[in-house]
Amino acid sequence: MTETTSNPYRDLPSVDRVLADPRVAALVLERGHAPVAGLAREVLDSYRASIAASEASAAPGVIEAVLARAEALRPSLRSVVNATGVIIHTNLGRAPLARAAIEAIIQVSAGYSNLEFDLEAGERGTRFGHLDRTLCHISGADAGIAVNNNASALLLALAALCRDREVIISRGQLVEIGGGFRIPDVLRQSGATLVEVGTTNRTYVRDYAEAITDRTAAILRVHSSNFRVVGFTEQPTLAGLASLARERGLLLLDDLGSGALLDTRAYGLAAEPLVQDSVRAGADVVLFSGDKLLGGPQAGIAVGSAEAIGAMRRHPLARAVRIDKASIAALAATLDHYAKGDAEREVPVWRMIALPAPVIEARARRWAEACGARASVEACESTVGGGSLPGESLPSFGCAIDAPEGADAFAAALRAASPPIVARIHEGRVWLDPRTVAPEADAHVQDTLTSLLSEAGRGR
Ligand SMILES: *Cc1c(COP(=O)(O)O)cnc(C)c1O
Repeated sequence: MTETTSNPYRDLPSVDRVLADPRVAALVLERGHAPVAGLAREVLDSYRASIAASEASAAPGVIEAVLARAEALRPSLRSVVNATGVIIHTNLGRAPLARAAIEAIIQVSAGYSNLEFDLEAGERGTRFGHLDRTLCHISGADAGIAVNNNASALLLALAALCRDREVIISRGQLVEIGGGFRIPDVLRQSGATLVEVGTTNRTYVRDYAEAITDRTAAILRVHSSNFRVVGFTEQPTLAGLASLARERGLLLLDDLGSGALLDTRAYGLAAEPLVQDSVRAGADVVLFSGDKLLGGPQAGIAVGSAEAIGAMRRHPLARAVRIDKASIAALAATLDHYAKGDAEREVPVWRMIALPAPVIEARARRWAEACGARASVEACESTVGGGSLPGESLPSFGCAIDAPEGADAFAAALRAASPPIVARIHEGRVWLDPRTVAPEADAHVQDTLTSLLSEAGRGR
């Protein structure tokens, strides 16, 4: 062995040499020196590791490897095109915001605001005041509060109103909402004691009545958002529970989950309980999310009696789960659309629910034409998602693609587009449903389809 024997480690360029490459230098201008140098070091380390494992002898493509991983330097959270047909897709960020909500966020975030400042009195105010009027107007309740999300609204309600006391709930409503959010766990965290009544499929008002003790604080009803119990089932009406609660001096809490303000039946869907109806039926606190069927930002909203909501506002946990100013701005602007009566036109979730099938079919047809012979327009079903209306769907049309390299690979290629396009795989084909895609993104979808399918064609 002599010194001249090729040493694969020595063939590796230095970090400086990598950074001097014109393409990498351009990346440095865009992303900064330190992050790109760090990435170059990572790539070189992985080359050294494969040399050590004698998987590689030379070092071709170091620059290419750095450039290929450049995406990792961009902020990881980015916008995607949701072509799944699931309108409230929790993994894809739930509800897209109305234009006015986006503008309100910009207005309030670009400078200072009267977030906790009473402009009339010139002294400290409360952030909870900004939503008061609209929440009450829309729901018919006496008071309202918005916090970080509905899970925290429920936790706050239980902690403020039921701590060290008992809360009665039907066994059919001890649900897991998703992401490990389980009603019994939230109850335990709040310091309240869970009292289960009835059976999984049937619970009567008398089951609740028999479970009341001098330690009982409340009856909690939880909307079984993401599943449906069919067949031999029975749950008391909210009004039935309200009269029992009133008679026995208990609170009635109603966790609606989605919290629709418009009637889903007008769109051919099953009924999703309305916030207004729960207030009218006599619930003391009605809880719902801001970013499900309401179509606003992430938030948890509680409306109800001034006394109950006041106790929630004063509880120390309210500070820990408080809503931020950008979300208040967006929520206020979204609620305004309901107050003005133009939510169906302006709130994207409702606009997508209301989208007529022929409009969707025409867009699916243009997408399919961009694919050539490999795609066809097929009837399919969009779903509302977000843990609302399980088993319900909206008739829609999709562009179904028979990808030459297989459905998984084609779906992955769509996700690698910029912005990424998320599609659905069904029976070996890739499906794209225009219902959940903003029309402004049509050109991007079409161009991506054309380019992917012509590349695939060339590769064959
Ligand atoms: C979704 C849901 C929640 C949780 O709401 P987040 O806003 O996601 O925290 C709580 N309860 C029910 C019934 C739900 O459907």
